[in-house]
Amino acid sequence: MKLLEGKVAVITGAAKGIGRELAIVFAQHGADVAFTDLRADEHAKSLETELQNMGSKARFYISDASSYEDSVKTIEHIVSDFNTIDILVNNAGVTRDNLLLRMSEEDFDLVMKINLKSVFNLTKAVQPIMLKQRKGSIINMSSIVGLQGNAGQTNYAASKAGIIGFTKSIARELGSRNIRCNAIAPGFIETEMTHVLTDEVKAAWVHQIPMRRAGNPKDVAETAVYLASDLSSYVTGQVISCDGGMHM
Ligand code: NAD
Repeated sequence: MKLLEGKVAVITGAAKGIGRELAIVFAQHGADVAFTDLRADEHAKSLETELQNMGSKARFYISDASSYEDSVKTIEHIVSDFNTIDILVNNAGVTRDNLLLRMSEEDFDLVMKINLKSVFNLTKAVQPIMLKQRKGSIINMSSIVGLQGNAGQTNYAASKAGIIGFTKSIARELGSRNIRCNAIAPGFIETEMTHVLTDEVKAAWVHQIPMRRAGNPKDVAETAVYLASDLSSYVTGQVISCDGGMHM
């Protein structure tokens, strides 16, 4: 069953990792996919071709989600190419981990700007389009770290907790217009973001997971399909953990 047939999805930071898999799984479900990332490298180009070969009207846009101006221009460009936007996934994110004692002000500000302000930028830019068509699903990529905190990630945890407050507020502001806004809180997912961790750190994470395995991007992508599709038409303001039971 194709759950996203006829829908246009925008996914930020999708050249790699979770965003890339989201784009592929959305296209498998019939969506047309506009995706962004910082650079037009081989990852972005190969994804665009892969999606088009699947029959999706797919297009890559170079765009910095942390820039408001860039985000507004990109959304205008996408609307002129695709006519509409039904789904926005605010996925772009980074880590700059350190204990607070050693964390620089620059690394705090950078993580807040890329992870949290980007959600403001893109949501504000798509709001008029979704209001006009009186429908839309916005999905924000939070983290279980935003729910429970994590030593060495004050900047990241604060940004991901901020996303949850933003999500719930948008759900309240736009619910009456049939625009839904939910967050996904992935646990430990194997991507480049977690590649940098040592084997000991990875083993320690896996030990805390009731399902005793790391998640993969497909696990998160399939959760996003539910939130993007009409299967979740009465679900808004929620944070869905996708973490093998790590945070209950
Ligand atoms: P990743 O590092 O593999 O991919 C992130 C992508 O975002 C990259 O392609 C990068 O170029 C892009 N990006 C970074 N800054 C950007 C910007 N300013 N504008 C546009 N694109 C930008 O990371 P991932 O593991 O796939 O993470 C995706 C999302 O999921 C992030 O928001 C992350 O915080 C969240 N998340 C990941 C995990 C995990 O375990 N991997 C867990 C919880 C939440």
